[in-house]
Amino acid sequence: MKLVILDRDGTINADSDEYIKSPEEWQPLPGALEAIARLNHAGWHVVVASNQSGLGRGLFDVGSLNAMHAKMHKLLSAHGGRIDAIFYCPHSPDEGCNCRKPLPGLFEQIADRFGVDLKGVPVVGDSLRDVQAGAVVGCEPHLVLSGKGAEFRGRPLPDTFPAGTRVHEDLAAFADYLATRPAAPRAAA
Ligand SMILES: [Mg+2]
Ligand SMILES: [Zn+2]
Repeated sequence: MKLVILDRDGTINADSDEYIKSPEEWQPLPGALEAIARLNHAGWHVVVASNQSGLGRGLFDVGSLNAMHAKMHKLLSAHGGRIDAIFYCPHSPDEGCNCRKPLPGLFEQIADRFGVDLKGVPVVGDSLRDVQAGAVVGCEPHLVLSGKGAEFRGRPLPDTFPAGTRVHEDLAAFADYLATRPAAPRAAA
């Protein structure tokens, strides 16, 4: 199974320091949905792993989150794309859970659900914690410079990033990269 794990806010849709709290506030980044569709057409299954502490902070409820995701699925399907599943951490930072990135709980849930080893699976996010969480379970780390990632534009990544983290302008550039690089051994497995 060719699997890619994506962060949501700042990677697929525009992020906000005020949190994304409603379907109206959920707005795709330019080219992001098309990028997911391109990945799908190249045989990649796409799964989302997202911190949604706004739930734990009481800023929105699960109904609103589901409505955001219904919008995401609908807009994506109009581009011929599909997200197989969305895994999210609903907790606030003080709840001490194991699923809030940079902890690896969401990734362990994904491995369990799909019955796959995540070693070498590309993970894409706009924050250090996204790639750190993936690196714990052996994912291949990719940083996009959309969203919070903009702070890393034009300078070397800090040493806190996992070794080998690749940098892309946005999700579209990541999709181009994945489509054009030679197939790795795991992709042939
Ligand atoms: Mg993000
Ligand atoms: Zn959690």
